[in-house]
Amino acid sequence: VELSGMAGSSQVEKHFRFVVVGGGISGVTCAEQLAFQFPGDEVALLTAAPLVKTVTNLKQVSKTLEEFDVEEQPSSILEEKYPNLKVIHSAVRVLRAKQHVLQTEDGHNFRYEKLCVCTGARPKLLIENPHVLGIRDTDSAQDFQKKLCKAKRIIVIGNGGIALELVYEVEGCEVIWAIKDKAIGNTFFDAGAAQFLIPSLEVEKPEKTLPCKRARYTIERAVNPKAGSLDHGSALGPDWHQGISLRGAEEVSHNVHVEYECEIEAVLSQHDFMQSPLYTQNSDLGTWPVYAQLTNGKVYGCDFIVSATGVVPNTEPFLQGNNFELAEDHGLRVDEHMRTCEPDVYAAGDVCSAGWEPSPLWQQMRLWTQARQMGFYAARCIAAHVLEEAIELDFCFELFSHITRFFNYKVVLLGKFNAQGLGLDHKLLVRCTKGLEYVKVVLSRGRMVGAVLIGDTDLEETFENLILNQMDLSSYGEELLNPDIDIEDYFD
Ligand code: FAD
Repeated sequence: VELSGMAGSSQVEKHFRFVVVGGGISGVTCAEQLAFQFPGDEVALLTAAPLVKTVTNLKQVSKTLEEFDVEEQPSSILEEKYPNLKVIHSAVRVLRAKQHVLQTEDGHNFRYEKLCVCTGARPKLLIENPHVLGIRDTDSAQDFQKKLCKAKRIIVIGNGGIALELVYEVEGCEVIWAIKDKAIGNTFFDAGAAQFLIPSLEVEKPEKTLPCKRARYTIERAVNPKAGSLDHGSALGPDWHQGISLRGAEEVSHNVHVEYECEIEAVLSQHDFMQSPLYTQNSDLGTWPVYAQLTNGKVYGCDFIVSATGVVPNTEPFLQGNNFELAEDHGLRVDEHMRTCEPDVYAAGDVCSAGWEPSPLWQQMRLWTQARQMGFYAARCIAAHVLEEAIELDFCFELFSHITRFFNYKVVLLGKFNAQGLGLDHKLLVRCTKGLEYVKVVLSRGRMVGAVLIGDTDLEETFENLILNQMDLSSYGEELLNPDIDIEDYFD
């Protein structure tokens, strides 16, 4: 529908009942679901990048664990599947929430009845410097690869999933890994699991990785060479490094040195370093394009620095002149129906922060699966509100669950896997076979509330059930992890 003239403007305005902003997993899932549920209404998906992410081969592994493939595809695929879904390539510049109007960078206005914001997040760059890069989308990953093939040494800052994958995947280049914690992988693991994983960094990587049973990411770049505009590309995800070689300039496999409990104090260009007092104390460091001083006093020269220190939600175009509530992590705060505090504006995926009272076994983490779940649930909430139907918080928000691979091990995380928020009120049971498996169970008042499973443990379904049914396990004690007992039979 084209309406002409909005109050005070002579521009043409397009009207859609539903508008979704963002062509990542959350936005595409939300738009598809709305188009499916309202075949008689037009749904617009506004997105900055020319390609969209679609979920394929969705497989439910257990009640809450899911695996799927993700493909970056031209938007025509979506439009062919849903004739009432229109994909518009233009970044949103401004939202006037009171008028229910969005303006895009190319000057078009879009009026909506219900809006869902799914603009994702971008890397939190510790410092703006040409030698510091963040990895987020296809373009930045390829930029990284280009720089890496000429590099002899890089510094990786950060201790989350991206840093973990990077330090393991990079070969032929020395990696200095600076982490602020006492153990690697702090976002996902405790010190015990870190200890289990560390030896993998010291041995040669297996030629071929084991078959990968987790969300896989395919980039159809050939379709559109302009894929992923620099500013607004969608986030990469699981297996983002598959298909791009992460090799440096040297003939070595892993060469990782971890600097614990430190952060970056300063980043200096070669010129600035040579002029600084640091040079006199560290004149033997050799000549490097950039130098980093760490808070533990050490100075390293390197080819470039990768900053993998978390993300910042992309909220900027929506804030000015509106009354959104932002959470501490700067995400748009949403209630249990994915509503922001502006009427008719919903949000899902990395851009939002769950503002409802969470189940004791769930926490938000900016991960692929949660982006899909939130996008899907937001669409269902929008539908329920339009149709004036009741809707309850989706079951997927009952229990946190994540399946991935780190250092070539299968990794399953369930519930309060790191005893998050439990204080001292918990007990840990651990079983570990070096090089094979690491199993950790978090118990609180005799009930299982979380688990970390590394390796092919085959315990995920049983543990998921034990966590969900909150059975009192006090009487089993350490037998719970006795490898000679078939725990599945035990609880059947
Ligand atoms: P995004 O996928 O970021 O999509 C946002 C969309 O909004 C994009 O299409 C963008 O073009 C568009 N957009 C942004 N601003 C505007 C605007 N102003 N106007 C219009 N459109 C706009 N998760 C895992 O579960 N497992 C992993 O192993 C994993 N690895 C990762 C590795 C890397 C390198 C990165 C960066 C992330 C990884 N993640 C992983 C996280 C996962 O990719 C994200 O949680 C997920 O992609 C978020 O989806 P989203 O739809 O919310 O946002």
